[in-house]
Amino acid sequence: MFNPAELNRWIQAHLPGALEFLREMVAINSWTRNPAGVNELARLTAGHFAPLGFSAESVPSANCDCGDHLLLTRRGSTAKSLALVSHLDTVFPPEEEARNNFHWQPEGDRIFGPGTHDIKGGTAMMWLVLAALREHAPAIFESVTWRLFLDSSEETSSFDFGELCRQRCDADTLAALVFEAEGRSEGVRRLVIARKGRATWRVSVAGRGAHAGSRHPRGANAIVQLGQTLQRVAALTDYSRDLTVNIGTVGGGNGLNRVPHEAWAEGELRAFKPEVFAKAKADLLALDGPGEVRSGEDGFACEVCVEILSESRPWPRNAGTDALMALWQSTGEELGEKLRGEERGGLSDGNLLWDALPTIDGLGPWGDNDHCSERSADGSKQPEYVEISSFVPKAAVNTLAIARLIEAGGVRQ
Ligand SMILES: [Zn+2]
Repeated sequence: MFNPAELNRWIQAHLPGALEFLREMVAINSWTRNPAGVNELARLTAGHFAPLGFSAESVPSANCDCGDHLLLTRRGSTAKSLALVSHLDTVFPPEEEARNNFHWQPEGDRIFGPGTHDIKGGTAMMWLVLAALREHAPAIFESVTWRLFLDSSEETSSFDFGELCRQRCDADTLAALVFEAEGRSEGVRRLVIARKGRATWRVSVAGRGAHAGSRHPRGANAIVQLGQTLQRVAALTDYSRDLTVNIGTVGGGNGLNRVPHEAWAEGELRAFKPEVFAKAKADLLALDGPGEVRSGEDGFACEVCVEILSESRPWPRNAGTDALMALWQSTGEELGEKLRGEERGGLSDGNLLWDALPTIDGLGPWGDNDHCSERSADGSKQPEYVEISSFVPKAAVNTLAIARLIEAGGVRQ
């Protein structure tokens, strides 16, 4: 069915079209908190996929500050379907883009610009792969229902988007393919086969305020208690189990002449393994209760309160993901591209899907410096970019691997 050299040539010939689509996407600011921009990007994206036969549906986000999720569907001739996942939003406010003169800027093999790498380059890759499949394997392309899910607010974790994807997929959905950027290490392309879960937390301490001059012994110092509690929080980090517990912000008190009655800190914890994640959460919550810092006068104890603010479950190694990785790896070998898996610390929508569908991530192009908009004269700071030459070989592997996946009717787990 596929002649690899021909497939490569075709993709190479259509790369300028994909990069033009990317340029148009990057020109629209789609910061998560800019719903008008996110919705404008959704319209542009829907327009680009329409000639491939996709119809668009907007689904309001559960978070009313955000733009709408975009769902693009193309019905196939069998009950089988595939879910392709990307997101619309970026992390850059328009003022920051303007301040740092951060916009579409090709330089040699790199294109700098907001979202070039995370994740508009991935959406352009998705378009290139689907166009290549339709051209080179029309029967396979027509045989499945394609569902393209574009999250309006991935960068702030939108749990409702995971629910939307899961509702629209079923037992006939062969896989969820996530187009976040490729990783690289030791010069080898890396797909994502696991991601850490993340929980954010807040520790607050209620002490007892007192005049620092005249009634110091009556005070129960909330900041002193918080300092002691945070030592224990920090000690939960265990690199040998890939568990990190990070204290991110801290505050307390409001005057030097007072024994502070309140103090707080917030942070996050991350782990790959569900059991490590659960244990760390339990250890953190166990710090809730009376503290050891007491007033000198009557032994009044500070009260420590621990809350979990939000939670994205880990995506651990699993059979479905491993089977997809094996398929991509063997397809890569056939095309002379070395591909390996990577367990990544950051979250993606894959965390919300892996236990419902065989899921693989990192199908986008390669680039670097995502979430950075700054450039320094000495070159020590460079903003986000995508590498142009990474598109064609990756698109060829994705196209062939997806064709194989459809022909095989899914992966064995
Ligand atoms: Zn992303």
